[in-house]
Amino acid sequence: MKYRRLEHRFMQYIPRLLEPGVLYISIEFATAAHKCCCGCDEHIVTPLTSHDWSLTFDGETVSLWPSIGNWNYACRSHYIIKRNRVVEARPWRDDEITAGRQKDRLAKSEFYEVNREENELIGDWGSNLHI
Ligand SMILES: [Zn+2]
Repeated sequence: MKYRRLEHRFMQYIPRLLEPGVLYISIEFATAAHKCCCGCDEHIVTPLTSHDWSLTFDGETVSLWPSIGNWNYACRSHYIIKRNRVVEARPWRDDEITAGRQKDRLAKSEFYEVNREENELIGDWGSNLHI
């Protein structure tokens, strides 16, 4: 893990070019984004919704829950952002990735039936998603 600490920045818009080691947070768009902490160049977008990620700000540091599992990327890194620290989690096994994707799909499909309008909005994020 190349970056063990992130600096958080609250912004209205998430910039197109992300600086490594920075967690950008847009409350307005309920989204956070950062460059993968392993040091690869991937942009990791974490929507803040009741079924994606939740963000905690304690006045000084931020935490994101659940973990960031970048299984769609070559690095497959997996970590937790807790109080601005990047805590490495063990890599996913292939079967866990499959199970995670199914669970994610299920959770979302349940949600979609309740709220179809929001479904379409979230669908746009889907292509870029990881748990
Ligand atoms: Zn990476």
